[in-house]
Amino acid sequence: MKLRNVILLALLFFGSANSLFAQLNVISDFNYDSLLNVNSNYGLVPFKSDLIREKIMYATDNNFTKKIVYDTAAVYLSLDARNALLRVAEMLKSLNVGLVIYDAYRPYRYTVKFWEIIHDDRYVADPKKGSRHNRGCAVDVGLFDLKTGQFLDMPTAYDDFSEKASVSSKDRTKLQAKNVELLQKAMTCNGFQLFATEWWHFDYEGWEKYPIYDISFQDLNK
Ligand SMILES: [Zn+2]
Repeated sequence: MKLRNVILLALLFFGSANSLFAQLNVISDFNYDSLLNVNSNYGLVPFKSDLIREKIMYATDNNFTKKIVYDTAAVYLSLDARNALLRVAEMLKSLNVGLVIYDAYRPYRYTVKFWEIIHDDRYVADPKKGSRHNRGCAVDVGLFDLKTGQFLDMPTAYDDFSEKASVSSKDRTKLQAKNVELLQKAMTCNGFQLFATEWWHFDYEGWEKYPIYDISFQDLNK
């Protein structure tokens, strides 16, 4: 990267008002466009495909907060993670299986909010570090039958904060074990990494290279 770009990036990263946002160099509306000018690999892109079903629980009140959290349901990811997830969807298509997307990019403001509710970094990210969802590099996924539309049986419901949801749990039926293994294989051979406490959560490799964003879904949809 040219020195001019390094200096510009450094300047961009000091544009936040609140101290936590500043410590983490959170990218907001204020400096998003400038970031893209520096490196077009950054930024968030929508994920659309006939091979997915969106079930964004945080855009409904059917989630652990019992409140509507997101102002709109939208699936955005960083470019590389989006392309990798498209490869996963294409791979599963041959088995007549599609991807259920429960969550993808999550604006940083919601990581702060979730931490206020659940102070446990096994399940929600500490705002001091930020979440990989904030970087557009994490996705929460399940599987569905492309012919019938029915969700495949998985070890627990989404956001079940119990031991049973962990990737190492043996507390599952043969069918649940088979389904979760299919999901894990398809994801990991396309660059996604498992997350110990949640069968549905996957991080895209190299996530640490991407900035933390706090761009609202409404602004991204513009
Ligand atoms: Zn997640």
